Amino acid sequence: MIRRDFFQRDDTHAVALGIACYKLLPEDWLGWEPRTVYEELERLGYGRVPETNACKLNAFRTARATILPWQDWHTFEKVVRGLNGDIPNFTLTEPLSVAKCMVGVDALRAIQAVPFSRDVMGYIAACVRNDDLDYAPDPIAFVMPLLCPPMYKCEECGNTDTDDLEDGQCDVCTGRYEDGIPNGKPSAGLEQRGRKITRFMPYDYAPIATLFGRASRISIDHVQLGDTSEELQVAKLLSYNEYRAEHKRRMNEQIREVAHVQRTRL
Ligand SMILES: [Zn+2]
Repeated sequence: MIRRDFFQRDDTHAVALGIACYKLLPEDWLGWEPRTVYEELERLGYGRVPETNACKLNAFRTARATILPWQDWHTFEKVVRGLNGDIPNFTLTEPLSVAKCMVGVDALRAIQAVPFSRDVMGYIAACVRNDDLDYAPDPIAFVMPLLCPPMYKCEECGNTDTDDLEDGQCDVCTGRYEDGIPNGKPSAGLEQRGRKITRFMPYDYAPIATLFGRASRISIDHVQLGDTSEELQVAKLLSYNEYRAEHKRRMNEQIREVAHVQRTRL
C-alpha cells in the first residue's frame, strides 16, 4: 500500500512520486494531461496534489518522457527547479544554486541514464562560477573540464586558447580558421606549423579537491576550517553536500518504500 498522505507531504521526493504513479495509474499515464493525473490520484483517495508536488511530478514526467533536461539548459533549469520542489517560473531565467544542481543531477540520474550535453554542462559550470567556487565535487564533477578548461600557448605565434586540439597543433599557425570558423584541418602548406605548444591549466584546484575529500569523510560538526579562500570554498561545499545527502537519503528510502508495492490492477 502507498500511504494515503504520500502525494500530500512536502518531503515526498519527486522520483518517489513518479514511481508511485507507475504503481497506481495505467501504464500510459506519462502521456496524460497533468490535470488528469491529479484528478485520478484524488479519485483513488490520495487527496488533492499540492502545487509543489504537482511541479515535482511534472518535472519527473518531462525527464522520463524526453531527454531534454540533459540536452537543453533552459529545460534543465526548470526541471531541476521542479525536482527540488520549487515552482518554476517559465518566463524568467532563475539560475540554480549549486546545491540544487547537485540534487537535480542525482534525481535525473535516478530517472534515466543519459549523458549531459555541453550546453547543460556549461550551464552548471556557470552556476558554480557564480558562487565563486573553483571546484565542483560529485555528482557535478563532470563539469570540471568546462569550469577549468585545459589551455595551450603556441610558442610560434603566441596564441593562447582552450586546448581542444586533436592533432596538438596551434589553430592559428595551421590556418584552421576560415572566416573565424574552425574548419577542422590545417590549410595546405601549413600542415607542419604550430607544433610547439605548451599545455597548462588555468588554475590548480587540487588543494580544494583534496581538502574537500578529506573533510567530507568526517562528521560536519567535527570539521574545523580557517578563512583562506580554499577553506571558505570547502565550507560552502560541505554544506551543499549535506543538503544533497539528505535529499539522496530521502529519495532512496522512499523509492524502496514504493518499489515493492504491487501494481494496482486496473
Ligand atoms: Zn600558433
